[in-house]
Amino acid sequence: MAKKDYYEVLGVSRDASQEEIKKAYRKQALKYHPDKNPGDKEAEENFKLAAEAYEVLSNPDKRSKYDRFGHSAFDGSGGFSGGGMTIEDIFAQFGDIFGGFGDFGGFGGFGGFGGRTSSRQRTVNKGSNLRVKVKLNLQEISSGVEKKLKVKKYVACSVCHGTGAKDGTSKITCPTCHGSGHITHVTNTFLGQMQTSSTCPDCRGEGQVIKEKCSACYGEGIVKQDEIVKINIPAGVQEGMQIKMSGKGNAARRGGINGDLLVIIEEEKHPELIRDGNDLIFNLYLSIPQAVLGDTVEIPTVDGQAKIKIEPGTQPGKILRLRGKGVPDINGYGRGDLLVNTNVWIPKNLSSEEQKTFEKMSHSDNFTPAPGKSEGGFFSRMKNFFEQ
Ligand SMILES: [Zn+2]
Ligand SMILES: [Zn+2]
Repeated sequence: MAKKDYYEVLGVSRDASQEEIKKAYRKQALKYHPDKNPGDKEAEENFKLAAEAYEVLSNPDKRSKYDRFGHSAFDGSGGFSGGGMTIEDIFAQFGDIFGGFGDFGGFGGFGGFGGRTSSRQRTVNKGSNLRVKVKLNLQEISSGVEKKLKVKKYVACSVCHGTGAKDGTSKITCPTCHGSGHITHVTNTFLGQMQTSSTCPDCRGEGQVIKEKCSACYGEGIVKQDEIVKINIPAGVQEGMQIKMSGKGNAARRGGINGDLLVIIEEEKHPELIRDGNDLIFNLYLSIPQAVLGDTVEIPTVDGQAKIKIEPGTQPGKILRLRGKGVPDINGYGRGDLLVNTNVWIPKNLSSEEQKTFEKMSHSDNFTPAPGKSEGGFFSRMKNFFEQ
């Protein structure tokens, strides 16, 4: 079938200006607008053809190609999408042309025009999203873990396979909207006719209704039940993070696509280790002799106890960094560190013998604080921290 000339489609001369082309397209688009011609196939074809013509003629590059080669300019892989455009594509691409008409006063109120892409589309039924919380301990966060979650959710009815129709019965065209899935209201206002389009309440946009309902799901196509969902949680997650499992949420009424399952991470506090991003902090308390004489002590890590060496003369506040003993980075950038923050436990009650020992030591030069020379004191401690 020979294609109609694009200039003829829009009813403009071959030397028409861009403004004339735009105006002509608006006129055609409004004339054949699907809201004004529900169910009219011919009008729909004309509507599409006008959009196709406009797509070419409104683009100087395409227009000059068309002027030289005619329709054959866009045969094959000409990068021209017009032929396959759907009504929805047209609204998505040229929707703005329907807005802001100075010369169509009354159309300003045409609720459906321009912005109606989403309401017009026979929206795919999507089930709602579900949220579940999962509590993880530090060990699980550190290694990553597979969890099985029991989720109460809507699933497709097994009796009617999600259709909602009683076995053997088929769907019929919705009598309310005659199959179009939407209903149009026209009201007269002083500006002219106002037209609004809304989703049909009886078939909810499907255009079809069930003749006889499935008795297991009362025609809904879905039933609520418990399901076990397996989820692999990667290492390094943090409190409040959400993991989306596409399609694992509620099933949609009478077919359609499932919603998503959003898994929200909750962190269980470790009794001894404090998490700071990918690093872990452990507050270690040494006795005075341990700090003075040095020792080997056990500390907790995510992988169990570990032994670390305390050098003789360790100042309180010294931070020992155990590289790679923290939590893995969620994005795979290595692992954090375990920072051991040393404190020295100062006793309050002493025996008289201990009392005497300390009194003796108080006269020793070795027990006189000299913060500048040692690694003690706040500033040198910070320096110490940053230099590690
Ligand atoms: Zn059913
Ligand atoms: Zn309907």
